Amino acid sequence: MLIIWGSENKETERGWVADYCLNCNEVCPHRVIEMRCVSHIYFISIGKGSLIGFFRICRKCKMTLPTSVEHYSTLLRRPSKELGELISRTHPGLPLQMVLREQAREHLAGGLDNPDERLVTLTDLLIENSLDLETRCASTHIDLYSAMWMLATLGLPIAAFMLCREFAVPGALWPLWGALFTAFACVVMVIVALKGDPSRFARGTVIPTLAPLMKPIRPTQEDIERALKDLKDQRLAVGKKVKAQDLYEAYTLAASS
Ligand SMILES: [Zn+2]
Repeated sequence: MLIIWGSENKETERGWVADYCLNCNEVCPHRVIEMRCVSHIYFISIGKGSLIGFFRICRKCKMTLPTSVEHYSTLLRRPSKELGELISRTHPGLPLQMVLREQAREHLAGGLDNPDERLVTLTDLLIENSLDLETRCASTHIDLYSAMWMLATLGLPIAAFMLCREFAVPGALWPLWGALFTAFACVVMVIVALKGDPSRFARGTVIPTLAPLMKPIRPTQEDIERALKDLKDQRLAVGKKVKAQDLYEAYTLAASS
C-alpha cells in the first residue's frame, strides 16, 4: 500500500499589531502570521508541528518582514480603527523607537553619536535584509555544496565497492560493507550540508549585502553584537545565523574601501 506522508509549512494568522513599515516609512497596522512545519499523512495534518517563525505583513503595502510575538504586548483579533489605540495596546514602546528613528535620520549625515540611534537604525537594516534568510531557514534549499554531496552519495559507494573489491578475496562481503558504510557517511554529510545552508547563505550573500549598507551608520563591534543578540533573543534567523565578528570584519573592509 502506498503511504503518502511528509511535512508542509502551514501559515496561521495570529492577530494585528502596530509596527514600523520600512517600505511605507511610517507606523502601519500589520497582520502577524505564524509559520509551522506540520507533518501530514495523506495530506491530513498531524498535531501542531514545530514552530518556524513569525512574519508581519504591512496592511498598506503588503511588505513582509520577520518578527517575534514577544515584541508586542498583545495581538488584537482585528486592527483598531484608531492607529493610536493599536499602538498603545500592541506596541507601546514604538513611539520611543520612532523618536530615535527620526533623530537618527536627522543625524545620519554627520554620524550617529547616540548608541541607541545606531542600534535602532542597524536593527531596521538587519530586519529589512533578512527575509530571504528567514524563508531559507523555513524550507529545505539545495545549494551547490549540498548538491555535490548528493551526487557523491550516488557515486562514492560504487567507487568504494570497486576499490575494496580490488583487494578482497573472491566471495568476501567486506566490499559490500565498505559501500554501505560510505553510503551512510555520504547521507550524513548531505544532512549536515542541508542544515548548514542558511549559515552559508548568511556568510555568502547576507553579510556582503549588509556590509556596505552599514557605512552611514558607522556601528562599533559592540553595536553589531547588541543588535544581533536582540534579534537572536527574538528568535529571528538573522540573529542566529549571522555572526557578529564576520559582519564587523566585512563592514570594516567595506568602510575602508
Ligand atoms: Zn508598508
